[in-house]
Amino acid sequence: MTEPTYARPETLEEALLFLKRHGPHTRPLAGGTDVMVDLRSGKLKAPYLLDISRLPELQGISMSEEGLSIGAGVTISEIHSSPLVAEHAPSLIKSCAFFGSLQIRNVATMGGNVGNASPSADTAPALLVHGAEAVLAGAAGARRVPVENLFEGPYRSGLKSHELMLRFILKPARGMFSDFQKIGRRKALAIARMSMAILAESAGDGTFRFVRLALGSATPTPMRVRALESFLAGKRPDRKTLDDGAVLMAEEMVRITGRRPSTIYKEKAVQGLFLRMLYPLLENGAV
Ligand SMILES: Cc1cc2nc3c(=O)[nH]c(=O)nc-3n(C[C@H](O)[C@H](O)[C@H](O)COP(=O)(O)OP(=O)(O)OC[C@H]3O[C@@H](n4cnc5c(N)ncnc54)[C@H](O)[C@@H]3O)c2cc1C
Repeated sequence: MTEPTYARPETLEEALLFLKRHGPHTRPLAGGTDVMVDLRSGKLKAPYLLDISRLPELQGISMSEEGLSIGAGVTISEIHSSPLVAEHAPSLIKSCAFFGSLQIRNVATMGGNVGNASPSADTAPALLVHGAEAVLAGAAGARRVPVENLFEGPYRSGLKSHELMLRFILKPARGMFSDFQKIGRRKALAIARMSMAILAESAGDGTFRFVRLALGSATPTPMRVRALESFLAGKRPDRKTLDDGAVLMAEEMVRITGRRPSTIYKEKAVQGLFLRMLYPLLENGAV
């Protein structure tokens, strides 16, 4: 195997110029926990590696009127220990708690998690329920796209070869009901077999004003389950509603993926995850 040529630009302008010239032959390198594994296995053949880990535009976590901003180069460990994220996006914190090992979390970035476009990217369901948008920079200027649209297919990203993700903007969710759950072979170092995130707001009378629900690993790309969101909106979380919701959840998953040998397991698992997240609301019978 020929070693790729390594470049480490000092500024974002240099990085974008490099991508303008060599984009189709270049792989941006953040923490490298996907890229290096794929290079070693021969799955990835990239003549150029562009190390973007030092670019200041990809760093930092802040809150402003536009929402909660998290740099694409921020590591999973930094997110996990951020008081701002804990306050405004607790399901994202939870998704980072069960992510790989400590060594992986210390170098893996959220930009890399989205850029790799794996169906089982752990941060994706939480990003989706927060209506997250990615701020991209490229030769043709900047654009903002919903994170959901960056997952075009399994390991197929919607990023153009001349583009970099700079940061993500999440709709904050202080004081709302939220959770993330994941099923893996083991808790640590497990690539999720199924994951789910929820964000729900109370209408003040015990019913849901809105619900956002996203699935990971169970479908070819992480996705919002909008049929279930509409079903739950305006309802009170009583046992019948939640049990009916669990059945609808499984039906939606099968509608998207079709029936496969693993469906028997996944139908039960997806219902179990859904009820595990929502049954705590039964204690009050209200959200
Ligand atoms: C042992 C092990 C355990 C793991 N456990 C988990 C787990 O529990 N959950 C999970 O979700 N993943 C897991 N992973 C996968 C991996 O760690 C994550 O996907 C991680 O978030 C990738 O981030 P990175 O910074 O290392 O990305 P990199 O490997 O540097 O990049 C990944 C992809 O994203 C692109 N990219 C990165 N940043 C940008 C940017 N700013 N702009 C444009 N493109 C960009 C790269 O070009 C590349 O295509 C694991 C991996 C290993 C090796």
